[in-house]
Amino acid sequence: MPKKRSDEETSLSKPNSIRCRYCGQKNAVKADFKNNDAACGKCKLPLSDEPHKKFADLSKHDYIHPDDSKALAALRAIPGIDSALRKLLEVTGEAALRVIFTASSVKVTTKQFPDLHAKLQVACTTLGVDMPEMFVQQNPVVNAFTYGSKKHIIVLHSGLLERLNDEETLAVISHEVGHIHAEHVLYLTAARLMEALANASAAKLIPGSEIIKFIIAAGINSALLAWARRAELSCDRAGLLVVQDPHVIGRVMMKLAGGTSASKIDYDEFLEQGRQFKKTCDEKALDKFWATWINAGQTHPFPIWRVGEILDWVESGQYQDLMNKQ
Ligand SMILES: [Zn+2]
Ligand SMILES: [Zn+2]
Repeated sequence: MPKKRSDEETSLSKPNSIRCRYCGQKNAVKADFKNNDAACGKCKLPLSDEPHKKFADLSKHDYIHPDDSKALAALRAIPGIDSALRKLLEVTGEAALRVIFTASSVKVTTKQFPDLHAKLQVACTTLGVDMPEMFVQQNPVVNAFTYGSKKHIIVLHSGLLERLNDEETLAVISHEVGHIHAEHVLYLTAARLMEALANASAAKLIPGSEIIKFIIAAGINSALLAWARRAELSCDRAGLLVVQDPHVIGRVMMKLAGGTSASKIDYDEFLEQGRQFKKTCDEKALDKFWATWINAGQTHPFPIWRVGEILDWVESGQYQDLMNKQ
């Protein structure tokens, strides 16, 4: 008669299963999965038995950087700004941007880039945002952006996906979802349109040239740029609220700063550089450089400055307070 197996034997012989902390997918794993860098079959993020916090009722005021609020208040104080920007989006055809992306990029769905779709879902459920559309565009520049005043669209460049690992990619997607949560997108889209027009020197060729002249004369363009740079700080915080590990944000910034040479950078020294930069940072000089930088096609500026800012937020205890709340 075969010997009855003990409970212990039974549990060892059957595969363990673990629910992905991010997306909830059930994954079959071996007992030593933690030592093997096991990843979730759906979202491809690392498996872990640590909990992952989803925010039930996150307000943008919980994490908005004070410099973002201040610059946005200055922007909104310009007389006629909202109607001018609405007019700008109307005449330059915000809808055209959507056509361009849907015609030239791959839409992220459960069948195309399914792991990116799952990551987008993780970012949206964690922050409490309705799922926007997301596209992947062939472009070697490591970048991502969000636009659309009526319907929000996130675009990820292929260069970004080649450079970042899965957690870092989640951080970037979450940063973009943060722009939606923080209600930045109307102003971001206007900033982007202004950049595009400046780059193409096309301002005088389009029917809305009068409105563009007004926007530049009223100082809206420079106030828009000054705000857009600071808006990044709030969304780095939103990214951290999703990945829930400051080092992931640090590594993203390291890769944004070091490019293909990132593997030669010492991470701790990089963080120290961020701290030192923050101490001596000249805000006005950054504003000046930012205008040039943006013309060079860089929409996510100054990773060294940003890593200093995110470290500051973590060390202030505000991040941990939010994680403990609700
Ligand atoms: Zn997962
Ligand atoms: Zn951004």
